[in-house]
Amino acid sequence: MSATLGTLLKLVKPEISIQVFERLDAPAQESSNPWNNAGTGHAALCELNYMPDSKDGSLPNPAKAIAINEQFQLSRQFWSHLVEIGALGDPSSFINSTPHISFVRGAKDVDYLRRRFEVLKDEPLFAGIEFSDDPKVIESWAPLLIKGRKSDQPIAATRVESGTDVDFGSVTRQMFEFLKRNNANFQANAEVKDLNRNSDGSWNLTVRNLETSETDYVNAKFVFVGAGGWALKLLQKSGIAEARGYGTFPVGGQWLRTSNPKLVEQHSAKVYSQASVGAPPMSVPHLDKRVVDGKASLLFGPYATANPKFLKNGSIFDLPASLRPSNLIPYLSVALTNFSLIRYLVGELLKTKAKKFDALKDFMPTASPEDWELLNAGQRAQVIKRDKVKGGVLQFGTEVITSHDGSISGLLGASPGASTAVFVMLEVLDRSFSAGIPDLKKRIQKLVPSYGSKLSADAKKAKASLESTAKTLKIK
Ligand SMILES: Cc1cc2nc3c(=O)[nH]c(=O)nc-3n(C[C@H](O)[C@H](O)[C@H](O)COP(=O)(O)OP(=O)(O)OC[C@H]3O[C@@H](n4cnc5c(N)ncnc54)[C@H](O)[C@@H]3O)c2cc1C
Repeated sequence: MSATLGTLLKLVKPEISIQVFERLDAPAQESSNPWNNAGTGHAALCELNYMPDSKDGSLPNPAKAIAINEQFQLSRQFWSHLVEIGALGDPSSFINSTPHISFVRGAKDVDYLRRRFEVLKDEPLFAGIEFSDDPKVIESWAPLLIKGRKSDQPIAATRVESGTDVDFGSVTRQMFEFLKRNNANFQANAEVKDLNRNSDGSWNLTVRNLETSETDYVNAKFVFVGAGGWALKLLQKSGIAEARGYGTFPVGGQWLRTSNPKLVEQHSAKVYSQASVGAPPMSVPHLDKRVVDGKASLLFGPYATANPKFLKNGSIFDLPASLRPSNLIPYLSVALTNFSLIRYLVGELLKTKAKKFDALKDFMPTASPEDWELLNAGQRAQVIKRDKVKGGVLQFGTEVITSHDGSISGLLGASPGASTAVFVMLEVLDRSFSAGIPDLKKRIQKLVPSYGSKLSADAKKAKASLESTAKTLKIK
């Protein structure tokens, strides 16, 4: 997020001075690291949670799915611009074509997927979506889903060839390199410990050098708290009223990974399915081809785990330390009203390795344990916020918190995440810089042409954008 905001800012206002502090020894070691997230270019092409079934069997509502897709187009456009100006290198170093498939089992879900397809096939941003309930066709799309499948249960799948796998770690590192080449300063092993407002409205940051234990104080007119799971902690320290009433609900994750070339060569897709009852939407299991550092492997998961840390390299005291009088009621009401989620998380925690493996076998009946290793994924820090009726709600999206004067912004939440970083950081730019940068909208449109308009409302423009970004990014 910080790399995206910094790069946007440098391009719309080249004279701006930027200083980045990172507590770890390199960028992209937390959620943006390729092995800590699934690398799905979230465009709602295959993730069923963005378009849940209707309650009465009518056609499901595509609004959320279209909105997510629209947001991902902004990322494709911005990354294309960065490739064109040499800020990002060869596109295959960070984005690769990987068809997105939704795969369901059972008559009820087959019927839902068919209706979902009926709606999306006419949407410009979902052009080319295919549906099949024929096992032979599905086998030609993703052989590992069908091989060894004995049950005569009905199955169905949709496929969109323009889906992508993204190495968000590579995007992050390359954007920070671009910023460094353009006079921004990136300091690793530097932890922001505190933030205080100066009398002139600027901010004073207390920064600890974790190698020397020295403390430095830095002044800034604008601060972006791009601290992932620790953003809430720093926003609370800033004392801004807008951060009151927020909490964080951490969900850990694990994957199974294989690099066995015989398996990898048989699966070139990201296959998403339905979530189990009570599971948070981001814990929907999926079987993905990943390309990281030019090497392909398969990833299955994530399995949700219970872990109180807000960052993978965080502290077990993160959750208790985030409690404040203003967020006690939201925390308590989320704990009391999300019983099925908590039961699901406890159930996941108690699952043996063999039980976890059964979930993979539902996708890939021929999977053998000796091919797969279990890895820890990143921490998701979901937003808990005040709610007038319920006291508090758990929110699965992201939320930008900005002070009333626009001098500090921070991002809470995890999903849809890195894929929509451009959309979310454009919101930060709009909130904090529209008054200070003349013609901001026009400047942004040079980098992200569809900013401020809706591609989904104009089939011609949608087609043109998909084609031109596909060409520059060398994807389908
Ligand atoms: C299991 C999992 C799967 C996911 N899958 C996907 C996916 O398929 N597609 C997708 O688009 N998104 C996915 N996401 C979400 C995505 O990874 C995140 O939304 C995104 O990476 C967040 O980026 P960020 O910059 O906000 O946070 P991070 O990448 O976590 O970066 C925050 C940085 O701030 C640093 N930091 C924290 N506190 C301080 C401090 N006090 N001082 C200095 N530095 C500090 C941290 O060390 C870290 O480097 C997934 C996330 C998880 C956990």
